[in-house]
Amino acid sequence: MSEETTQNPSEQISDDTPARLPTALVYDDAFLAHRVPNDFPEVPERVGLAIAMIEALLAEGTLPAEHVLRLPVRAANMEELAAVHPEAYVERVRQAVADLVEAGGEHAKPRRFATEVYISPGSYDAATKAAGAPLVILDAIGEGHARNGYALVRPPGHHASADRAMGFCIFNNVAVAARYAQRKWGWQRVLIVDYDVHHGNGTQDIFYEDGDVLYFSTHQYPFYPGTGDSTDRGTGAGLGSTVNAPLPAESGWSVYDPIFRQVLWPLADRFKPDAVLLSAGFDAHWQDPLAQMQLSTADYSDLSREVVEIADTYCAGRLVAVQEGGYNLDAVAQCASTLMFALTGSDKIVDNLGLAPPLNYRWNEEAIVRALLDLHDLTGYRRKPRKPQVREQPAKPQE
Ligand SMILES: [Zn+2]
Repeated sequence: MSEETTQNPSEQISDDTPARLPTALVYDDAFLAHRVPNDFPEVPERVGLAIAMIEALLAEGTLPAEHVLRLPVRAANMEELAAVHPEAYVERVRQAVADLVEAGGEHAKPRRFATEVYISPGSYDAATKAAGAPLVILDAIGEGHARNGYALVRPPGHHASADRAMGFCIFNNVAVAARYAQRKWGWQRVLIVDYDVHHGNGTQDIFYEDGDVLYFSTHQYPFYPGTGDSTDRGTGAGLGSTVNAPLPAESGWSVYDPIFRQVLWPLADRFKPDAVLLSAGFDAHWQDPLAQMQLSTADYSDLSREVVEIADTYCAGRLVAVQEGGYNLDAVAQCASTLMFALTGSDKIVDNLGLAPPLNYRWNEEAIVRALLDLHDLTGYRRKPRKPQVREQPAKPQE
């Protein structure tokens, strides 16, 4: 960080970078109105509890209000959605919701729309606003009001391909954001980092032949949705701009950390993004009920801060985090709050869940990293580790 401004110490806020623009935060209760059947994992409370925790941190001043810019959501319009999705697909979603309301009224029960996707009367509004929220943040960044931002949205997006909803996702929110960043703001080279525990098959598909969008994903493998092999590298002009890091179940910090430092960083060095998007799924948390990874909230903080640093290094901090998965409500709320700290330049964490129980074995992360470096013709780039690769279990959970 440069020291471009020297303020009167009495006026200095607690952060040591007072000139930093705030982090935009976009959330709307419309996201709660996308309802799902009982026992479905992707529930409204995921974002409801997360925003409540962030608001509590703001109210008590732990998250300084001057570091956060709350902005109202807007729905993505047809032109913005159509940069990714055929208009006929968008219309099919709208019509399905309209039919549901016509048949059952505003309180109609959720109805199945696609594999693991339900719609309710509020779903079209929620889905178009989930796609629009990142665009609000991109505009705030482009207009100089925010440094970066967090779209705390649902339904999530990274399993949605151009013309198909699946896996809780209707529109591919991060893909719509990438196209908007290019078309509206001229940020042509967009890096998408996806640390959701699932492979973002939709995002990969949409940009598979596009060399201007680098899609990087860490995911449990083999696992839902079955895609994401490391040999998928893109095609045509997009060859090399899809980078999959499929990881065995029970991977934790010792695997994720070198992949971010030794694979993601040299990729970013080579690609030099104009903007960075983060598919922020918190289902690689060790408490997640759907997956079997070992990340803690503190680990997520470190990974997020690597992505923040990449954006700081290459594109003046331009980074939009877009909520994807995460199905343990406490883990999601704490990781979401911790992501807000990371985006504001802080290493604070909110965590009463602690670390995963230690394994009695360890994956050979060096072999995993080596294979990815060879596959993508990267030379090792070992930044100094922030933390030991095997951590001590704290005596008691951190607050
Ligand atoms: Zn996921």
